[in-house]
Amino acid sequence: MTTTGANGLKDCVEGVVVRIDSHFPLVEYAGRKYRCTLRKKLKRGPRDTTHKICVGDRVLFLPPAHEQDICPIEEVLPRKTQLTRKAARHEGMSQALVANVDRLIVVVSAVAPELNPRLIDRVLVAGENGKLECVICVNKMDLVPRGKIEPLVAYYPAIGYKLIFTSALTGEGLDGFRDALKDKSSVIAGPSGVGKSTLLNAIQPGLKLTTREVSEVTGKGKHVTAFVQLIPLDFGGYVVDTPGIREFGLWDVTKSDLQDLFREMAPYIGQCKFHDCTHTHEPRCAVKAAVEEGKIPRLRHESYCAIFTSL
Ligand code: GDP
Ligand code: ZN
Repeated sequence: MTTTGANGLKDCVEGVVVRIDSHFPLVEYAGRKYRCTLRKKLKRGPRDTTHKICVGDRVLFLPPAHEQDICPIEEVLPRKTQLTRKAARHEGMSQALVANVDRLIVVVSAVAPELNPRLIDRVLVAGENGKLECVICVNKMDLVPRGKIEPLVAYYPAIGYKLIFTSALTGEGLDGFRDALKDKSSVIAGPSGVGKSTLLNAIQPGLKLTTREVSEVTGKGKHVTAFVQLIPLDFGGYVVDTPGIREFGLWDVTKSDLQDLFREMAPYIGQCKFHDCTHTHEPRCAVKAAVEEGKIPRLRHESYCAIFTSL
């Protein structure tokens, strides 16, 4: 299939960036992978982001006459979803980590490390901000009775998040975990030690997430670069791997955006006494009233306030 892009780019095809390492975006099209490079005009691109292209981006390019040739990317298509973080050392800029994946699976453990809903909420905010569908997975359920854990997270399904309980050790809930990944592209995030690698290996042996870093010697000296890639799943779908996402310091959220990233607050926005209410301390705040009435989980509002203060 050939596509004509918005700029009238004849004979270009649409591919997906499946991997980025220090040198080239690797773009898959019709089952083959092409080493590509960004055209200069695209490198300049929008000013508010340091990375003009990331894994998952859909791009238009002209397949080269010789397979070994490096082909220029003519256009990066608009993103449906994205995970971004604040760019290091570039004030006010963001860095896209992955584009166009469907789901964010937040993995935590029941114990070891202990369940921390505040942390779940921080990751959910990152997912909501990037328009990803978020699923919560509580692992290591073999270590504690379900009755002890369930009440701590029962409000998530009530506000619309899918919640699954798993044990990578006993196999409990693994079907649900597999279903959450099947035929979708997903990114897994959660603190280290909760069992993300073990879970993925349990559903597809050999699928060890590659924390591996690539050491490269270039003309400018030795660099250590982690790469990001889309890994295909045997049973359909893709999972994105990069340590940078898994341990999430994903911050590209403003104070004023935050209220929109707590979905259960939506019905109350605009109902407060002050039009610029922050829903943290103001009198006659509709959100706080909803918390008092039990319509918004108190813990979620506490997370909102904590994140608001941290921004
Ligand atoms: P990651 O850092 O999130 O990728 O965590 P790992 O997959 O490396 O797991 C951390 C530790 O938890 C390892 O010692 C695993 O064997 C253990 N672990 C993982 N899943 C489970 C589980 O469901 N139950 C128990 N009891 N231990 C688990
Ligand atoms: Zn308010």
